[in-house]
Amino acid sequence: MTAHPAIVPHEPIAIDPEKCVRCDLCDWICPGDLIHHEEGNKDKLPVVAYPDECWYCGLCQAICPVDAITVVFPDRMVNCRTDVASLLGKVVE
Ligand code: SF4
Ligand code: SF4
Repeated sequence: MTAHPAIVPHEPIAIDPEKCVRCDLCDWICPGDLIHHEEGNKDKLPVVAYPDECWYCGLCQAICPVDAITVVFPDRMVNCRTDVASLLGKVVE
């Protein structure tokens, strides 16, 4: 039996530790409550607790007051070659 390689979750955002001022706004705004940061802890960066559940809305990046967040889209989104028309079904005229 062939063992499956461990699936490493894609990290949906990158936070620049030099820029982040630990303001907690990204934790507050994430609509999925995926970003967690201990309030007032200036030593630790926010973390994405559930990376698989990110839907790449970009709100965390948009609200960050110091531009510390970059949304990192996975390859399967960037290089998606799905024929959208095929998903819509046949158009009847
Ligand atoms: S991109 Fe949206 S869903 Fe993903 S971590 Fe940021 S705010 Fe949350
Ligand atoms: S919004 Fe930006 S500065 Fe504030 S905690 Fe999140 S990454 Fe850090």
